[in-house]
Amino acid sequence: MRVTGDLALVKKLNKSIVLDTIRRNGPLSRTDVSERTGLNKATVSNLTLELLEQKLVEETGLGESSGGRKPLMLLFNGAAGCVIGIELGVTLVKAALTDLTGGILAERSAPLAGQDPEAALAVVRETVKPLLEAMPDTPHGLVGIGIGVPGMVDESGLILYAPNLGWEGVDLRSRLEETFGVPVVVDNEANVGAAGEREYGAGRHVRHLVYVSAGMGLGSGMIIDGQLYKGAWGYAGETGHMSIESDGRLCSCGSRGCWELYASERAYAYVSEAGSTPLPASTTSELAAHARSGDAAVLDLYREIGRRLGIGITNLVNGFNPEKIVVGGPLTEAKEWIEPAMLDTIAERALPYHRRELAVSFSELGSRSAVLGAAHLAVSQFLGRVRVSL
Ligand SMILES: [Zn+2]
Repeated sequence: MRVTGDLALVKKLNKSIVLDTIRRNGPLSRTDVSERTGLNKATVSNLTLELLEQKLVEETGLGESSGGRKPLMLLFNGAAGCVIGIELGVTLVKAALTDLTGGILAERSAPLAGQDPEAALAVVRETVKPLLEAMPDTPHGLVGIGIGVPGMVDESGLILYAPNLGWEGVDLRSRLEETFGVPVVVDNEANVGAAGEREYGAGRHVRHLVYVSAGMGLGSGMIIDGQLYKGAWGYAGETGHMSIESDGRLCSCGSRGCWELYASERAYAYVSEAGSTPLPASTTSELAAHARSGDAAVLDLYREIGRRLGIGITNLVNGFNPEKIVVGGPLTEAKEWIEPAMLDTIAERALPYHRRELAVSFSELGSRSAVLGAAHLAVSQFLGRVRVSL
């Protein structure tokens, strides 16, 4: 191995490894940290001292002694600063103020009326304002903002294309950084949801996870071997546009038979077209209420959406061999009527070895996967771990 020497960089890496070890596994003694990281005790002590001074780590209580003095234990200080996580939906902006461990301190949401970027930015500003006012005093203050958007985002945080918003080439990151004066990280909402579930929800401790976000469209966040897979240019995960019908419905992307036309909220629009009974409502929360009172047309619709979700998920399972599939997003409100047909379809169609140890579940964070994931991306960026993979 060729080592290019840059001691400052090596130190920074070691420090982030120590911090990450304490954050994930604390409380730990300095000896524990040394054993877990392979760094020698003197290095761990020096780096810990800096982390204590920066208030990112705190000392607490006494641990078990292995003979001699009982060691002080180290814990990550989640209260060292705050972040804001935002989900920019097609019709709604949601935002949460959290500490550095994803603990929600305050939340706000607002309808998104105008769809042009300026109007949406104004709504974001108004939604975030009361959160900033509610911010507690912390050593580092607001350290960053993360935002999930329904579209393709490049590595610099530029929204290349958001079809359901009608946006192209919107530099949301720079605009928000100018407004709030802190680093902003922008990513696709399915990626952000995957990060939320992996860090705080149904995907904890899962190394190979596919998160399917089902709302006004469908998208997937894919975590492969512990890392978010973004493809060559950051556009991976547009699974809503995989064809599941060769001569199917025409999609706004130009193709036909795209998965999201059959297995997301976009399927609602096709029910009356098919000549069957028109739906009694048009949103998932209203339709869920009808399903609860036994409306046959709505129950049929959700069974069919479940079956179609199962078909697409089968393709993902056979293609990626994940340990776990987590379905999240607004459609989870109709989970109880979707889930049986979805699971039956996967059980019937997925390859036997692929489904043997497969777990399929709905999101644990409910409608909060994306805001919490966005908040987590901001925390990661702050902790300097973004490019350090262990
Ligand atoms: Zn399409």
